[in-house]
Amino acid sequence: MPASASPAMTPVSQASPTGPPPPSTKPRVFTTLPPVPRSGALSRNISSPTLSAAYDHAPMDIRADDIRWPCWNGEVNYKQLVFNPPPNCEGWRNPAPAELALSSPFWSMWTMPLPTVGKRLPILAATLASAMATTPACLAKPLDVAAEKAAISRRLDTEYPQLDALYKDLHRHPELSHQEVRTAAKLAAEMRRLGFEVTEGVGGTGIVAILRNGTGPTVLVRTDLDALPMEEKTGLPYASKARQTWQGKLGPVAHSCGHDVHMATWIGTAAMLAASRERWNGTLMFAGQPGEEAGDGAQKMLDDGLFKRFGKPDFGFALHVAPAPAGAVMYKSGAVLSNYDDIEIRFNGRGGHGAMPAATIDPILQAARFIVEVQSVVSLQKDPLSPGIISIGAIQGGSAGNIIPDTAIINGTMRSFTPETRAVLRVGIERTAKAVADMAGAPPPVIKFSNSSTAVVNDATLTKSTAEIFSAAFGPAAIELPTPSPASEDYSAFIEAGVPSVYFYIGGTDPAKFTEAQAKGESLPVNHSPLFAPLPEPTIRTGTEAMTLAILGALAR
Ligand SMILES: [Zn+2]
Ligand SMILES: [Zn+2]
Repeated sequence: MPASASPAMTPVSQASPTGPPPPSTKPRVFTTLPPVPRSGALSRNISSPTLSAAYDHAPMDIRADDIRWPCWNGEVNYKQLVFNPPPNCEGWRNPAPAELALSSPFWSMWTMPLPTVGKRLPILAATLASAMATTPACLAKPLDVAAEKAAISRRLDTEYPQLDALYKDLHRHPELSHQEVRTAAKLAAEMRRLGFEVTEGVGGTGIVAILRNGTGPTVLVRTDLDALPMEEKTGLPYASKARQTWQGKLGPVAHSCGHDVHMATWIGTAAMLAASRERWNGTLMFAGQPGEEAGDGAQKMLDDGLFKRFGKPDFGFALHVAPAPAGAVMYKSGAVLSNYDDIEIRFNGRGGHGAMPAATIDPILQAARFIVEVQSVVSLQKDPLSPGIISIGAIQGGSAGNIIPDTAIINGTMRSFTPETRAVLRVGIERTAKAVADMAGAPPPVIKFSNSSTAVVNDATLTKSTAEIFSAAFGPAAIELPTPSPASEDYSAFIEAGVPSVYFYIGGTDPAKFTEAQAKGESLPVNHSPLFAPLPEPTIRTGTEAMTLAILGALAR
């Protein structure tokens, strides 16, 4: 993520020890159907799961008057739909009428004679499957979490030394965004060893590893691959001494955001699932995403046809290591990470001698005024109840103390959680920059917003079922976060593309050090600090267990 994650550690609620409430057994009857249009074509973007993904739902037995789904039954007649909730199907919910209003042919079938309906059955299958794809837990049997966790833990006892070695190798050899060549090759080899079908070079240096295991949903599991242009100062025996070119200059590179932890848990999860194929049905799509820190790697994979070439996933999962005690697993429904925009502003002036400022227009002063004044956009112009951040992290201008330069450039970031606050911040930045230029009698500044990503918003149904699994597996170490993090992530591109997802955190800090620091009121290094040093064990074990269980929750037989 482009900034450090520091989710609050206060548990706000735990799943009930008695388990979730039983699913409703009351059928829901829709008698008020959307108006039947006279004509129309299938639309691929009305509901979140696209029809192409829907066609992947093969196990559907359909007759004109009777529709069967693995844990879902529906009765159809011309004017009424009845959906019967299945037994023992956690997370089931009736599709809302809006979700059923998927396409005009779907509804126009209700006015057709029966033989015509028969011809339209593939469309019916697709539209109903599309609606069903919003009820993920229906496709999997309830999980015996304790037994599964024990089995994973036993396998990890054997596999962990290899994961530890992989982690330390990746840590020693970090690579910057879109330069992850060695990293991608290493992961591709590991996935091939595990029996996955691997495609390299997706969206640049991205990789896609597929494992098919019978009929069932497709699950996306993402890791990021990249490191940061900074020097590691942890003093660890496996600390990075790597250097790569960043913005034209050779400099140090370090995995100071912990993406090496993610890769180790990604391989660990793949190993656990590959070794237990009898326990699940479906397709695994493991995506190694380049350029997370650049904020554009997910979109590059999508633009390279990720979902067109490999199928669109029904659900997705990703995790991030956070400066919380190792062993903790943290989750939240809804918004979990912020909207993000890079800011670059070039203030223009007229250079000259420092002794003759009246003959110049000073861009340094404009930049300085902007940096101070722009904080009033945050404190006074946006809704005080809607969080927002403007940070300026770099300023460049001038070459010597007695020369007033022509230009000054500032770079910063902007974060928010709602489209409204994002718009207020953006307009406020533009207005402030233009105003300070105007005050100096300078030409207008050049303002650019880039690397934008939208907030990561977790799917409510999938988060609920996953949270119950986490609580059963990790007890009090499974923590529901009360608020989203102001950090950002381009995983949101996959969600925006229609993959209901859960993005969760694992703690990576030595629990003893964490407790000691809290007692002393001190803070420990967070992501993006040169001193950030996740404890490999139990962090990688916990991440592997949590991710494997989350996926089994969606795919278990
Ligand atoms: Zn980061
Ligand atoms: Zn990160």
